[in-house]
Amino acid sequence: MKYPVLSRFNKRTLLALPATFLIFMLSNCQSQQQQNKQNSAANQPEKAQAANTAAPVTVLGKAASAAVVLGRKQIPILCYHQIRNWKATDSKAAKDYIVQENDFRGQMKMLADSGYHTILPDQLYQYLNTGSALPVKPIMLTFDDTDLDQYILAAPQMKKYGFKGVFFIMTVSLGRPHYMSKAQVKELSDAGHVIAAHTWDHHNVKKYQGQDWVTQIDKPTKKLEEITGKPVKYFAYPFGLWNEQAIPELKKRGFIAAFQLSEKRDTIEPLFTIRRLLASGYWSVHTLSNNIKHNF
Ligand SMILES: [Zn+2]
Repeated sequence: MKYPVLSRFNKRTLLALPATFLIFMLSNCQSQQQQNKQNSAANQPEKAQAANTAAPVTVLGKAASAAVVLGRKQIPILCYHQIRNWKATDSKAAKDYIVQENDFRGQMKMLADSGYHTILPDQLYQYLNTGSALPVKPIMLTFDDTDLDQYILAAPQMKKYGFKGVFFIMTVSLGRPHYMSKAQVKELSDAGHVIAAHTWDHHNVKKYQGQDWVTQIDKPTKKLEEITGKPVKYFAYPFGLWNEQAIPELKKRGFIAAFQLSEKRDTIEPLFTIRRLLASGYWSVHTLSNNIKHNF
């Protein structure tokens, strides 16, 4: 059986582990879960013990055919950027990406009152591939670009309702003013949110050549794994832009699914073109509710 989730970690493990341990590993038929734990711990040898206890690893099923994935009903996924009140200097276009604080509070309350349950990417992946059950009225909340207000405002609002989300981190911003620090990202991860990749500095994936894949994908992903002690398996395309050449590059690096914005899913690679709805700063709670119902 091939579990695509392991490919990147196997490669790194082979490089990182001492030969004696490697022989031990290869000669023992381990459960997938044990192996996953060792692989994720291998990214941080000095903290292997901590990572082993801190990172429960879900065993994921095999990827299904595109037709099977496309045949399942899409799950609503929202994409947020900044959560803060508008300033006089914010442009008309920028406000699409800035959901004001009270609006965000109202949106989370609406989701809870309407009976939505947040799900995480592993659950979505399993559902799309195997048809596994999801909670009633599933929805995914995603946050792009590492903005500090996601940690300060969004996470506590979500906590009120037991919601968990996905934070797509652009690593160049870590620790800069108005962006999250490594410690804050780790805190979100430890609290049960998922940390996922969003490149180093937000360059358009369609333009990558050679070394760009190392700079924009390999190094940032390794950094996020070091911060969280968990494997990073999911990716969001900057600006939602993707092309078919990017998908094998992501797969080669161990990613098992990638998120765009609201273009149609690719007929061959639906798992690498999962759709998200950008929750506009101009929308009322009612508008958001309607758009969730009509866009997926
Ligand atoms: Zn972004």
